[in-house]
Amino acid sequence: MLQDKDRIFTNLYGAHSPGLEAAKKRGAWHLTREMLQQTPEWICDQIKASGLRGRGGAGFPTGLKWTFMPKEVRDRPHYLVVNADESEPGTCKDREIMRHDPHLLIEGCMIASYAMRAHACYVYLRGEYIAEREALEKAVKEAYEAGLIGKNNKNGWDFDLYVHHGAGAYICGEETALLESLEGKKGQPRLKPPFPANAGLYGCPTTVNNVESIAVAPTILRRGAEWFAGFGRPNNTGTKLFCVSGHVNKPCNVEEEMSITFRDLIETHCGGIRGGWDNLKAVIPGGSSVPMVPAEQIMDAYMDFDTLRDLRSGLGTAAVIVMDKSTDLIQAIARISYFYKHESCGQCTPCREGTGWMWRVLERMAKGQAEMSDIDMLLDVAGQVEGHTICALGDAAAWPVQGLIRHFRHEIEDRISEYRAPRTMVQGATVA
Ligand code: SF4
Repeated sequence: MLQDKDRIFTNLYGAHSPGLEAAKKRGAWHLTREMLQQTPEWICDQIKASGLRGRGGAGFPTGLKWTFMPKEVRDRPHYLVVNADESEPGTCKDREIMRHDPHLLIEGCMIASYAMRAHACYVYLRGEYIAEREALEKAVKEAYEAGLIGKNNKNGWDFDLYVHHGAGAYICGEETALLESLEGKKGQPRLKPPFPANAGLYGCPTTVNNVESIAVAPTILRRGAEWFAGFGRPNNTGTKLFCVSGHVNKPCNVEEEMSITFRDLIETHCGGIRGGWDNLKAVIPGGSSVPMVPAEQIMDAYMDFDTLRDLRSGLGTAAVIVMDKSTDLIQAIARISYFYKHESCGQCTPCREGTGWMWRVLERMAKGQAEMSDIDMLLDVAGQVEGHTICALGDAAAWPVQGLIRHFRHEIEDRISEYRAPRTMVQGATVA
């Protein structure tokens, strides 16, 4: 369990000012110049040693990702792009960083940019994040005025930061769609390769990182890679922001130790499950894209990348959606399916057609108006969408459906049987 002294985001709930002076008192911008006097390789090595894995969902090692950028700047500039298009249903952590601790993010942008030899960084914000953009822009202005960033700044690395406001499309959280959008084009994912580290923004070497991944970097360097690696379990280290929503007594955002158990997370910070632990039915542990896990499997599970992968789900963005026994799981997944159908960019056929198909079948199933054979057909369609599309939205649409059928097939069967039973009786009565 994380102690207060080990929290990175000490202003997560906005109890203090997000402004520069208050941020400095909380530790931001401390020793930044000294860090930038180290080599870029040293910074990458420290981030690697900390075990930090990307906090945007994929969990790829952050330090390793930074080393994919070319070692020398030749004919093309390098860019860092921060993905603040936080649109994954259930996820609401990056917004708190931007609203209440924006200077940690700005400082992290500068350090990460230096590590990748970039002099410019773009923060791409979700279209709906108006207050977050205003807070971040205010902090960026403060940092420029204080000479912390910009040309010939006090920290010794020329660095410009641009805040770009998206237009509200979920798909722009996919890194290559985000780059397209940033370039002023329609936000549609690119085929990979080439990968952004080779040909990203404007065809130049680019790394795209999540807000939380970048905002924790300065504290890791200040306090040491070993300190960060000391939390959690091997390969699942550090502190992590969890967004807990749904049927708990006190939904919240909280920074906790990676690998805390689900039970400890809920008991310590959320006041327990609504109606008690016997009332827990299932949990979506990492944002709507990952499959649900039934109560008996998740209660004492570690909340980390490897444990949840072994449960055939994922940590994702650590948006923990808790569902008690009052939940109509079929309807819940039908609603999620509608979301993916709505947000599909339409480039590839399996996603464009498959997402709508899955949604329509699930809506029928939620009412019981389906055939038993539709269950296997739905599973088959989900399998044909998964892994056969340009970007991960296809997988994200298929996995929740697969999770529902894997764990709660009996509920679908019961729903279909119940729908049929009264009709048979009525017909029988009519015949009689
Ligand atoms: Fe677009 Fe869906 Fe294909 Fe992704 S998987 S590129 S969202 S159609």
